[in-house]
Amino acid sequence: MPIYEYQCTRCGEKFEVRQAIGEDGAKLNCPKCRAPNPKRLFSSFFSPGSSTTEPSGTSCPTCSSGVCGLPPM
Ligand SMILES: [Zn+2]
Repeated sequence: MPIYEYQCTRCGEKFEVRQAIGEDGAKLNCPKCRAPNPKRLFSSFFSPGSSTTEPSGTSCPTCSSGVCGLPPM
């Protein structure tokens, strides 16, 4: 069963929840302030140490050089 990481939208608390695939966070509450509807983060299948090569800038993701003329997503 995958573990999802959520972040509270009110106080910013991060917490992990084991969920079956297909479940959403609608019934979750922040363990700290009890606020509903936490935001799901991406942490489930990637170890914290492995960084992606994705550029953090605003360049076009389809043409690493950023000169294709398309607006960035
Ligand atoms: Zn909270």
